[in-house]
Amino acid sequence: GEPLLSVRDLEKHFPVTKGLFQRQVGAVKAVDGISFDVYKGETLGLVGESGCGKSTTGRLVTRLLEPTGGQVMFEGQDITHMSQGRLRPLRRDMQMIFQDPYSSLNPRHTVGAIVGAPFRIQGVQTENGVKKAVQDLLELVGLNPEHYNRYPHEFSGGQRQRIGIARTLALKPKLIIADEPVSALDVSIQAQVVNLLEDLQNELDLTYVVIAHDLSVVRHISDRVAVMYLGKIVEIAERKSLYATPMHPYTNALLSAVPVPDPRGRAGRERIRLTGDVPSPLNPPPACRFHTRCWKAQEICKKVEPPLAELASGHRVACHFPENAPGAPEAPATGKD
Ligand code: SF4
Ligand code: MG
Repeated sequence: GEPLLSVRDLEKHFPVTKGLFQRQVGAVKAVDGISFDVYKGETLGLVGESGCGKSTTGRLVTRLLEPTGGQVMFEGQDITHMSQGRLRPLRRDMQMIFQDPYSSLNPRHTVGAIVGAPFRIQGVQTENGVKKAVQDLLELVGLNPEHYNRYPHEFSGGQRQRIGIARTLALKPKLIIADEPVSALDVSIQAQVVNLLEDLQNELDLTYVVIAHDLSVVRHISDRVAVMYLGKIVEIAERKSLYATPMHPYTNALLSAVPVPDPRGRAGRERIRLTGDVPSPLNPPPACRFHTRCWKAQEICKKVEPPLAELASGHRVACHFPENAPGAPEAPATGKD
């Protein structure tokens, strides 16, 4: 298929200044040269610990943040530096859903006013038309259309996320970037919202990037998954390939922390304990950024940055000593428990 979104060498460096004269002393390399495509109708999961740059990536591709390097193409158009005026019609096509919808729902507005606002701005519908359209959307996201006149505080967290989704759908977007859409919700509610997103995708032909901090949330919804570490994509693969044969040590560590749904599948998976926190993205470790926490690290890892290389069909990994790679050399493993 066609890529709806193409990202090349995307970069966001925030300058860090010091003193009276605001001398630049460094840069936080929040996103540091990442490339990926998102095809029409698919879901790309974007996963990594906090501070890895995944949320910044979401804001860059929707142009809520200005990139400092690289390129963002949407439907074949270069939008990297497009003016706000020219971006306006495209803004509706690319929408974000956030972790906490409550903060963006005006507490003094009814659900009808909130979800109906985009229709009113479009100026094409009568009051009755708006009401009907909103009620249809409420029904579509699994809310009671009779609750049209209620206020956000009268709903549960999961219901409020549904209201946020309904408001987003009113704009008829093509691409939805969902930034931790369920991480604020009770575990029992999370699957319901993920299932809703999946149903809506099939019904409305949507394309998703779903951002999450662990691999369990995106497991069922993703067609492909990208793993980020300190501003870089370290592994990207089709869902099946990533979960069955994770190649980057970091992906292996993230996966080992995830409960196993199929006891026969990965029953033998050892728990890998990552030592230390994610280093600061201000002056990150040189070469392979994971070397300060990697149990397989060798001298070369501190000197030469591993390229994101395709080691199996559609499966790319940035590591000198990948695991599960066809024909890859085995590095001496130490510190694994
Ligand atoms: Fe670990 Fe070296 Fe691979 Fe980096 S390149 S993940 S340090 S083995
Ligand atoms: Mg899907």
